[in-house]
Amino acid sequence: MSHIETDLIHKGREFNDSKAVVTPIYQTSTYYADDDLKEYIIAATEPKNPNFYHRHGNPTNSQAAAVISSLEKTEDALVLATGMAAISNAILAVVKAGDHIVTQNSLYSGAMLFFKEFLLEYGVEVSHVDQKDNNAIEGAIRPNTKLIYIETPSNPNLDITDMEFVSSIAKKNGIITMADNTFASPINQTPADFGIDVVVHSATKYLGGHSDLTAGVVCGSKEFIQKVWRRSLVLGGSLSPFDSWLLLRGLKTLSMRVKQINSNALALAKFFESHPAIKYTGYIGLESHPQNKLAQKQMRGGTGMLCIEVIGNTEDLAYKNAQHILDKLEIFANAASLGGVESLVVHPASMWGSHHDKAQKSTSGITSGMLRISVGIEHIDDLIADFDHALKDIKL
Ligand SMILES: *Cc1c(COP(=O)(O)O)cnc(C)c1O
Repeated sequence: MSHIETDLIHKGREFNDSKAVVTPIYQTSTYYADDDLKEYIIAATEPKNPNFYHRHGNPTNSQAAAVISSLEKTEDALVLATGMAAISNAILAVVKAGDHIVTQNSLYSGAMLFFKEFLLEYGVEVSHVDQKDNNAIEGAIRPNTKLIYIETPSNPNLDITDMEFVSSIAKKNGIITMADNTFASPINQTPADFGIDVVVHSATKYLGGHSDLTAGVVCGSKEFIQKVWRRSLVLGGSLSPFDSWLLLRGLKTLSMRVKQINSNALALAKFFESHPAIKYTGYIGLESHPQNKLAQKQMRGGTGMLCIEVIGNTEDLAYKNAQHILDKLEIFANAASLGGVESLVVHPASMWGSHHDKAQKSTSGITSGMLRISVGIEHIDDLIADFDHALKDIKL
């Protein structure tokens, strides 16, 4: 067995049938038929065949999928055009009308929309529970529950779900488990180690790592990935050859990037923890994190994601203080997304106004003074200096 760092560089090399060290971009929609027609029929019908038509497969996509499935310790993987394509195709490979899903109160906003609007209209019922509460998760299971869908750590307030517990109650009840591993990345967490069946990612984030592509990936057993592939044939959403080439390139440095990001984020979290203008610092790597014990059990690093709560005696003032900080920061850019080499910051209370009403904001833990930070690989002294300056004249 080779190590993650080696697999990131070498896995899936068999899909590169050229002499080029770097896998070529197969920028083609279709492929010449084999002289042997029997072979061509196999190419047309075999799942993920990389030499028939792009919606079926592509050599660069196969190589990217091979690297990621080895990181996630699953048999197989399928790359798609976005994280949401991965999530929706994977869920639709499990449930049909009349089925029931158990999931969390806090989820990525796109996944939340899929559960609350789309699936409901197609006759799938969904229960949302507090992910920190194992009893609530178990209690929500019904005879027609087919899927437990978790996101850990979750967006935006970094709560975590007990993966070993979830997979054990699911197995007892014949239910499939699926985890969104985007925030942790496979460097910090391997859900398969705790018995989770399917892992999904927005590869747009840490896996790609340079904010220059969108991609998604579903990891699972060979049989399950074939099911997802069949959905993707009709729903579309194949990953473009150029984007999968960028993804492969980004993956090579995943381990180095995430280790640097973990270390920067921990140092920044410690700075926030002792700063008088910060009321609360939410970082999984801090001992003060309420779920630090569980984090230590199932994670190898704290990730680059942290959330802070700025002081302010009223909701209004906290909101204004958060906006003031965004205004003053120079290195941290105010932009959606996360997981890139550059540090980003967002103010969830203003950004998700259109997705969440007031009650939803409060059940998903979004407060007026909260800032969500994605730490990059810049020098830590510069990152701390940027916040030190921005926090200078914050008012109570
Ligand atoms: C960004 C994100 C997604 C969606 O990914 P896209 O590539 O934008 O479609 C899903 N889950 C999490 C946790 C994310 O951060």
